Amino acid sequence: MFYGFIMKEDAVIHLWRFINQNGNSVHVSDARKFLSSRGFNREAIDYAIDTLHKLFFLEYRGDGDEYFLKKIKILEEPLEDLPCLGCEHLHECHIGGDRYSPERCQYFEEWMQKVRIRLSRG
Ligand code: SF4
Repeated sequence: MFYGFIMKEDAVIHLWRFINQNGNSVHVSDARKFLSSRGFNREAIDYAIDTLHKLFFLEYRGDGDEYFLKKIKILEEPLEDLPCLGCEHLHECHIGGDRYSPERCQYFEEWMQKVRIRLSRG
């Protein structure tokens, strides 16, 4: 039972990453195919889609089986691109952390670099 719960949690993270990596909008059948290829069953996939929808992270666009999962834009730049949103290590990442920390994270550094460049251009 506990293992099943972990699988559902992982499906949410995988789906969120998939949407972010594909222009913030994916066809539901592509999302299902992707999650299925990662070993998730239909129940876990439905749970992942429903969870992100209930959390107001995505909306449905379209009709019937022909709909897209579209990320809802809540934050503006630069926070919109913050890599920590959706990071699977967020719960174990903190300043000075042994395993994960912002000061040693490549993704966070790249994001900071983009923010610095944006600020320097005014
Ligand atoms: S700093 Fe890096 S590892 Fe930590 S939560 Fe953000 S993206 Fe994840």
